[in-house]
Amino acid sequence: MNIGDIFGKDDKKEFEKKEWKEIKPEPKLVPVLQQSIVKWNEGRKQDSPTEFRASEIGGCDRKYLYKQSQVEEIDWQSYLVMNMGTVIHELLQSYLKDHLISLEERLYFNLESGDSSPNTLLSGSYDGELDGKLFNEKKNVLLEIKTTGVSNYQRLITNKGQLSNKYKLQNNVYLHAKGLDRTAFIFFNRNIQFTDEFIEQNKDIIDTLNPVFHEITYYKDDALVEKIRQKITDRKLHKSLGTMPKRDKTSECSYCSFKSVCDADNQNEKAARRAEKSAKTKQEKEIKKKGVK
Ligand code: SF4
Repeated sequence: MNIGDIFGKDDKKEFEKKEWKEIKPEPKLVPVLQQSIVKWNEGRKQDSPTEFRASEIGGCDRKYLYKQSQVEEIDWQSYLVMNMGTVIHELLQSYLKDHLISLEERLYFNLESGDSSPNTLLSGSYDGELDGKLFNEKKNVLLEIKTTGVSNYQRLITNKGQLSNKYKLQNNVYLHAKGLDRTAFIFFNRNIQFTDEFIEQNKDIIDTLNPVFHEITYYKDDALVEKIRQKITDRKLHKSLGTMPKRDKTSECSYCSFKSVCDADNQNEKAARRAEKSAKTKQEKEIKKKGVK
């Protein structure tokens, strides 16, 4: 028996309309929940022990400079994504606890001397150190857990994408600080509820794919330490001169909390560059004109 059998057709429509109103009230709890997410996270914010953090060193230099001069306002959705990432990290670390030699700890790394004494330049927390025997390695192996959306997961797993430079730079700080050579990156497909869709899209190759976990092996790269040094030097220089590096649009922009101010500044910078170029062209023309006379 269904609703149409109890009520007439019109009654059914009325009933459905009424139900619709009742199940979609003016949201009262949702705004409270959103504000609570922001409040909870703001209450847990800690100042970084050093100016440069491993997790940010591979990221946008402009963003670093905005953070130095402006208060970063993070919205509830960004906080929620971060919190969910933390929960997943903790869960995977618990699953792996029998294989972990050490769990997440804060590291300090001095790029100048290469030592790891506190209060030096870079700081960061790695996700764990795994027993090297698991990989037939003499040295232990670093663990890095990354959660990712289904489209990025798809790119990584089908080799259309690779480890981002941001991850590589961050990871090299940990490897150098720990004196290790190798990292096991575990990518977790956080959209696990869509694995059917994922399997369908990859049905020709699914036998060799794992729809939830993807492992990438990464080895220490000394050349990237030089790149980190260069980034730090550039950031310090811009900070002291009060200038900004040219905007380089990346995927980081889509979730950047400084996006609107960066967009506006970028427009002004473009206009200033255009004005400078046209003034230069005008000056060159005048010099040429005078030379002809
Ligand atoms: S919007 Fe993009 S370029 Fe601008 S600060 Fe953010 S990440 Fe950097």
